[in-house]
Amino acid sequence: MILRDPITLIDSGPLTEEAWDALGAGLKRFGLEVSDVKRVLLTHGHQDHYGLAEKVADASGATLYGGRLDRRNFRQERSHGLLLEDMARAGFGLLPRLAVVASVTAVDRFAKPLEVWDELSGGETLPGDGWSVVVRSTPGHTPGSLTFTIPEAGVVFTGDTVLKEITPNAVVDEDPEESGRPFRSVTRYFETLDEIGRTSGDATLLTGHGAPVTDWSAHRKTLDRRYGIRVGQIERELAKGPAVVRDLVAAIFPRVKTLNVFLAYSEILGFLMYLEDTGRVEKIVSETRDRYRLVPAALL
Ligand SMILES: [Zn+2]
Repeated sequence: MILRDPITLIDSGPLTEEAWDALGAGLKRFGLEVSDVKRVLLTHGHQDHYGLAEKVADASGATLYGGRLDRRNFRQERSHGLLLEDMARAGFGLLPRLAVVASVTAVDRFAKPLEVWDELSGGETLPGDGWSVVVRSTPGHTPGSLTFTIPEAGVVFTGDTVLKEITPNAVVDEDPEESGRPFRSVTRYFETLDEIGRTSGDATLLTGHGAPVTDWSAHRKTLDRRYGIRVGQIERELAKGPAVVRDLVAAIFPRVKTLNVFLAYSEILGFLMYLEDTGRVEKIVSETRDRYRLVPAALL
């Protein structure tokens, strides 16, 4: 929350009584009410970040802002058919596929779809009274993820693009700029991390969950180590022979619960596309399956 004119909320939290009460209580500590909020800036289209925004706008008349490429997320539009088809090609049976669609849809109850909002693409500067918000496009966690920098305060609101304790998952969804194709989440996310280092490495990063990140270069090293482990796991599995995503999920996340199958699928597919983009893995497409194999070292 930015308690300067215009009073600006960064992400609203989910559509729950607790979040609504917590927002009211937080504002009250500063002698304010929800009706005083003038702007709500949304870092990305996940329910726990934008869920309450429409209700805040109804109560206050605040203007909502969100990333252009997360438009479908904010409207809760999904291509279930595409997900079912892609997961079939990835080797998943009908039951796990239906369970994934159900679990993805179930999360919608934590958000009211947005009706009217201003779309941001990155590159904008929103004025304030003696302060400003610089908007940057930071695709990866979602296609339309944004960060909001307040240069006058030396802080950046990162949403889920940078988290201190959690390693963010770059979620695979349909590419909003290339319909019918998966968004190359991990590849884009790694580009975004480089960009954050260039533009915001000295700032205090205020994360969407938990503590801030104050030492970017140390944090980046930790991330690179963790992502390096994931790459190593996938390459070791593929060294045994070509595999579908389901085989890799079973080998790398052997105890994954139904609710998290989507995240595991998304994580592995995202990394496979990244390895494809860097020329280390190739996709073998047959009529019914998408398999992946290591590019022989001799060809690199
Ligand atoms: Zn998120």
